[in-house]
Amino acid sequence: MRVLPVPCFVDNYAYLVTADDRTAWIIDPSDDGPVLRALAEEGLSAAVVAFTHHHPDHTHGAAGVVAAFPATEVLGFGPDVARLPPLTRALADGDRVRLAGLRVEARHVPGHTLGALAYVVEAEGAERAVFTGDTLFSGGCGRLFEGTPADLWRSLDERLATLPPETRVYPGHEYTAANLRFCLSIEPENAATAARAAEVTALRQGGAPSVPSTMAIERATNVFLRAREAAVREALGLVGASDVEVLAELRRRKDAA
Ligand SMILES: [Zn+2]
Repeated sequence: MRVLPVPCFVDNYAYLVTADDRTAWIIDPSDDGPVLRALAEEGLSAAVVAFTHHHPDHTHGAAGVVAAFPATEVLGFGPDVARLPPLTRALADGDRVRLAGLRVEARHVPGHTLGALAYVVEAEGAERAVFTGDTLFSGGCGRLFEGTPADLWRSLDERLATLPPETRVYPGHEYTAANLRFCLSIEPENAATAARAAEVTALRQGGAPSVPSTMAIERATNVFLRAREAAVREALGLVGASDVEVLAELRRRKDAA
């Protein structure tokens, strides 16, 4: 399995995922221009488009991709069909799809939007990958546009952070450097976060993406997955609070940062 991030707009990533070097899944075809150029450069045809959520900066390029490759399967969350581009297959939580050489599980991860999906992808001989859209970023999480802090905490803690530590994490935006600055403002003593921040600075200075991360890195560095850690609770003055209250306070502070 090969995953190619395609930078779109200011800081979005569309992803080409291929198991056979001929056909690709496209996760979040943000903008058809860069996506079609990347497909052509790699000699790939589009086989599948899959949306993580309905926001236009993740769906805008779908029509152009389907026009260029009319047999493309288009996947998204069933209950969100009214606000997604036309789907050929509506997915439910837990659905497993086998297309273009990849086995993909759809996981409902509400919070940023109510109909958000993450895609857990497996291929022979490759590490598992998860495409998290705007629900989980490297070092952060999405704003709560539709869901509650409780929704988001369940999505992050039970539905994503439980994936095996070696799982590669591919989020919808290049927000990592700013996210890690926020993480360090809460946990300045976290050596793993400092190390990851230095690594990301070097990658970005070299013009490289900070993605993928791994679930192990996220659990060690991303404060939004660390609501039950004593250091995080102490920093917020929320030692006796619930995990959801800690997450809500982190989200409030990040929104104001
Ligand atoms: Zn979004």
